[in-house]
Amino acid sequence: MPNKPTATIILKPHKDSSLLRFHPWVFSGAIAKINGQPQEGDLVAVLNSEHEIMGVGHYQIGSITVRILAFNTDTLPDNFWLERLTASYKMRHTANLNREDNNTYRLVHGEGDFLPGLIIDIYGETAVLQAHSVGMHQQRQLIAKTLMQVVKGLKNVYYKSEGTLPFKAPIPEAERQDCYLTGSEGDCIATENGLRFYIDWLKGQKTGFFIDQRDNRSLLETYSANRKVLNMFCYTGGFSVYAMRGKAQSVDSVDSSEKAVELVQRNMELNFPNDTRHHEYTADAFNFLSDSIKDKYNLIILDPPAFAKHRDSIHNALQGYIRLNARAFKLIQPDSILFTFSCSQAIDKEMFRQAVFTAAAQSDRKVRILHQLHQPTDHPVNIYHPEGEYLKGLVLYVE
Ligand code: SAH
Repeated sequence: MPNKPTATIILKPHKDSSLLRFHPWVFSGAIAKINGQPQEGDLVAVLNSEHEIMGVGHYQIGSITVRILAFNTDTLPDNFWLERLTASYKMRHTANLNREDNNTYRLVHGEGDFLPGLIIDIYGETAVLQAHSVGMHQQRQLIAKTLMQVVKGLKNVYYKSEGTLPFKAPIPEAERQDCYLTGSEGDCIATENGLRFYIDWLKGQKTGFFIDQRDNRSLLETYSANRKVLNMFCYTGGFSVYAMRGKAQSVDSVDSSEKAVELVQRNMELNFPNDTRHHEYTADAFNFLSDSIKDKYNLIILDPPAFAKHRDSIHNALQGYIRLNARAFKLIQPDSILFTFSCSQAIDKEMFRQAVFTAAAQSDRKVRILHQLHQPTDHPVNIYHPEGEYLKGLVLYVE
């Protein structure tokens, strides 16, 4: 793919202000004219109404029409991928994430790494690459090749974009299928802070693991000693394994997905074989959080899937967070800790806190905030793209 744009996008007057602030999206409503006939995924140059060069990025059909890759230029430099991936790798090194006892981290977090539309997670010797735009899809081979150059010890690059590419995009069916771009099935055991996890990047959710809770799991470990822990929405059991290492008295992991519960079992066997403190359950959260478990737990983790996938579902999502947290407040023992999260991007910190506040008030408990949590260093927020902040959590002391 050439580094030269195939078309030029001219903005309407005064529609360049967000680009001047390095926000990487150009919305369709800001566009006055398109010179040329770009195909989805092409590189296009963006000019303001005075014909000054704003940047160059991937063209897309939809309300976000261009995702900018480089500002103040109309061409991508030849070494663009090498430069960007090296910069991402360097940042993870600075954050001390690439260690012998930790080979699991996110290398590229879309806009947070100035590469809108691209996610790359590293699991030891395997990278899982996920494209959210046709532009990134078209660059997948070059990205994989460059990754092999940049990431030391990497053997495999698995491409997993079937579920994330825009479904209307004109991509042949065969090209959409998940596959290895480099290497083949490798060691599926990754290490996070000295704990071992089986990663199913072929069939698992997202790229196989929720790397974004690493720091929050570490914090949980420090609160776990002698506690009776309930890990609700456990998926691969990340929080559960940390609680076990933190010397919890008992740990119950619950998820509605049978596949997830199988993964928890597998991860427990990897780290704490035959340890009778742990039990797993396949159940719906609201069924499990019934009055029959009142006072059974004194450390509860609530890490549900995103309740609000879009802005128009914010109201229902907030009701969901209130209902869920109110159940936990009602059931948890006195002198307890609650870790509660929201990963809905459309719900900001304040809205989430308000929902948890409402739940606490409804259940008439004395509640104090001990920690306010967020996404870790390998899921950075681009300072010019505040929408990138999505994970928020509260650690609460319930008297
Ligand atoms: N805490 C996990 C990630 C949670 S992802 C970690 O650290 O890895 C959300 C999980 O919630 C998914 O595994 C999904 O299967 C589960 N889930 C979704 N709806 C549910 C429900 N109604 N009851 C229980 N689990 C549910």
